[in-house]
Amino acid sequence: MLIIRAQRVFDGRELTGKRAVVVSGGKIVELLDDAPESGDVRDLGDVTLLPGLIDTHVHLAFDASPDPIAGLDRPGLYDRMRAHARTHLAAGVTTVRDLGDRDYLALRLANAMTDGPEILSAGAPITSVGGHCWFLGGEAEGVEGVRKAVRERADKGAHAIKMMITGGEMTPGSPSHLNQFTREEIDAAADEAHRHGLPIAGHAHGGPGIAAAVAAGFDSVEHVTFLTEDSVEPDPAIMAAMAANGVAASLTVGVLPGFTPPPRIAALLPILGESLRMLYGSGVTIVGGSDSGIGPTKPHGILTHGGDMLTMAGMTPVEILRAFTSDAARVCRVETRKGRIAPGFDADLLAVRGDPTSDHTALRNTAAVFRNGASL
Ligand SMILES: [Zn+2]
Repeated sequence: MLIIRAQRVFDGRELTGKRAVVVSGGKIVELLDDAPESGDVRDLGDVTLLPGLIDTHVHLAFDASPDPIAGLDRPGLYDRMRAHARTHLAAGVTTVRDLGDRDYLALRLANAMTDGPEILSAGAPITSVGGHCWFLGGEAEGVEGVRKAVRERADKGAHAIKMMITGGEMTPGSPSHLNQFTREEIDAAADEAHRHGLPIAGHAHGGPGIAAAVAAGFDSVEHVTFLTEDSVEPDPAIMAAMAANGVAASLTVGVLPGFTPPPRIAALLPILGESLRMLYGSGVTIVGGSDSGIGPTKPHGILTHGGDMLTMAGMTPVEILRAFTSDAARVCRVETRKGRIAPGFDADLLAVRGDPTSDHTALRNTAAVFRNGASL
C-alpha cells in the first residue's frame, strides 16, 4: 500500500481538494484529504497529480526522422518501437493508441512490454489499394474486403480499427481532400468494427470524408482539417452532426517549439484556427492525438505540447486536461480503467510541477510518472 501525496490532485474532471491517493496492487484504492502521519507515504511536494495522459493517435513504427517511411525497412523496427513507447511513458503518456504500424508489431509489443505505457493498437490502417499509407500493409477493396480486414484485426486482438477515409499528406498520389472509399465500404467498416465491440477511428481531412465517417457512426475522426484542394472550408453542418452523434474529433496536436509549417499550410493557419474554434463551439468532444513519429517536429512523447493548439480552439486548461485524460479514455473505450483518479482505476499517474489546471504548459514539467502504481 503506497500513499502518494501532492499539493493538488486533478481527478480527470476537476481539481478535487484532496491531497493524497492510496495505491495498491497497481490500482487506485481511495483519495484522502491528506496523507496520514505514518505509513508508506511518498510526498511529491508542490506538484499536481493527475491521471496519466492518453495519446489517441501515435505511430510507434515511425521514427520521427525526415523519412519515417524509409525507417520502416531499417533493421530493428520492433526494438525502436519499444524505445518510442518508453519515451511516451517518460513524458507522462501512460496510454498510447497506435493507429498505424506494420505486421501487428504494436500489438505484439502491447502484449510483451512490461516497462512501457499501455498500448492500444489498431494494426495496419485499412486503406484503399495504393491509398494513404498503403505501405503499412492494410489495403482492402469492396464491402466484403473491408469487412474481412476488420475481422482479421479483431481476430488478432486489435483494440481499435483505423480506416483511411481520405488520402493523406504523407502518401504521394492520395489527395487529402478526396475520399478513397465508397459510402458502402465506410459503412461496412463501422458496422463490422462495432459488431466486434471495437471503436473505429476514421482518418479524414476533407469535409466529405468527415461527413461519411459521421454518417457511418465512427467513434472518432482523426485530423478533421476540412481541407479542400487549395484551402480549408469548415462546415458547421458536419460539425453539428458530429456533436449530435457523439463522434469525437481527435485533433492532431503537439509539435516541437519553433516549428514553422510549410508555406502552403502557413497560409491556411488563420482559417484552420477559425475552423478549430467553430469545432469547439459546436460542442464536439475534442481529444488529442499527436501523430507522433511522422516527422522531426513530432517526436514521441510530444502530447504534452498539444495544449497550445487546443488553446487556439478556445479550450480552457481544465478542458485540455480532460481531453488528454477522461475524454480520451472514453474515445478509446478504456474509460472503466483509465483517465481518472478514482477507486478501482489503474494507478497510471503523472505528477507535474506547477498547476496545469491554470496553465496547460505545466504538463511539460514532469516530476514523476507511475504506471500500474510503480514509479518510473
Ligand atoms: Zn496518423
